[in-house]
Amino acid sequence: MNEFLLPSPLQQIENELTRKFNIHLFIKRDDLIHPQISGNKWRKLKYNIEQARKENKNTMLTFGGAYSNHITAVAAAGKLLGFITVGIIRGEEHAPLNKSLQFAKDCGMKLLYVDRETYRNKNYELQFTNYDLNKDDIYLLPEGGANELGVKGCKEIVDEIYIDFDFICSACGTGTTLAGIVQNLKPHQTAVGIAILKHETLANEIVSKFGIQHSSFNIQHYPFGGYAKTTPELIKFIKDFYDEQQIMLDYVYTGKMMYGIYDLISKNYFPENSTVVVVHTGGVVNANVNL
Ligand SMILES: *Cc1c(COP(=O)(O)O)cnc(C)c1O
Repeated sequence: MNEFLLPSPLQQIENELTRKFNIHLFIKRDDLIHPQISGNKWRKLKYNIEQARKENKNTMLTFGGAYSNHITAVAAAGKLLGFITVGIIRGEEHAPLNKSLQFAKDCGMKLLYVDRETYRNKNYELQFTNYDLNKDDIYLLPEGGANELGVKGCKEIVDEIYIDFDFICSACGTGTTLAGIVQNLKPHQTAVGIAILKHETLANEIVSKFGIQHSSFNIQHYPFGGYAKTTPELIKFIKDFYDEQQIMLDYVYTGKMMYGIYDLISKNYFPENSTVVVVHTGGVVNANVNL
C-alpha cells in the first residue's frame, strides 16, 4: 500500500486575491494520493474494499457513465490490489472506446453496457446470468461509491487536516464526499459544497440520503452549463491557476470548485481572516485541460 501518498499534503495558496481579502487559503492535495485511484475515489473505495474482503467476495461490480472517474478508479484498484472488477456502463458501446473506458478495460475490467432505463431501474440481476457472473462472488458498489462506507472513508479527509480552519470546500457529484466531511466537523466549522451541474435539489438529497443536518453545510452552484460542460472562461481559469500554482485542475469538478471559491472570496462570502481549506478531489486523469 506504500504506493499511496497518505496523508495527502496540505499546501497554502497565496496570491493577490487571498492577500486582498485576507483569506488563509489551503488546498488538500487528494489528487496526489495515487496517479490512477486519485482523490475522493480512493477515499470512497477504501472501506468498501475492506468490506468485500471480509465477505470473501473477489469481484467488485459497480456502475457509471462512460466518463466516470469512479469506474476508472475501481478498475485500477482491482488491478493493483488483485480483485476482479465489473463495470455496468450506462448507454451503448461506442467504438473506439474513450480514454477512460479503454483504461478500465486495459486494467482488466469487464464492461457491460445497459440502456438508460435498465440502468435507472437497477435491473441488474438479469445481467448477471447473461454474463456468466456468480452472484455469490459479487460485492455491489453503488455508482460513485456513494454508500455509508464511502462516507466513512471521506471523513478521514478532515482527520488529516492538522490546522484549524473555518471553512472546508469540496466539489459535489453525489455529495458523498461532502457528507463525510460534514460528519467530522467541529461546531465552528462550515462545509461548502460546489455543485458542478444544475441540480437544485442537491442539498435536500444529501440531507435525506446521508442523514446530515442542512445547517452544517451549504451548496453553491457553479454549473458552467452542465455536467462536464465548459466555457472559455473556465478553461482560462484552469490554465491561469496552473501557471500560478503548478496545480492541475480538471474541468468537470475541481476547476469549477476552485473557480467558485475564488468567486466567493471576491464577493466577501468568507469573513476576513478566515482559514479556508479546499479539497482537490482529483479527476485530472480523465478530464485534463491541454495547457
Ligand atoms: C467523483 C468526483 C467528485 C464527486 O464526489 P461525490 O462524493 O460524488 O460528491 C468530485 N471531484 C472529483 C474530481 C471526482 O472525480
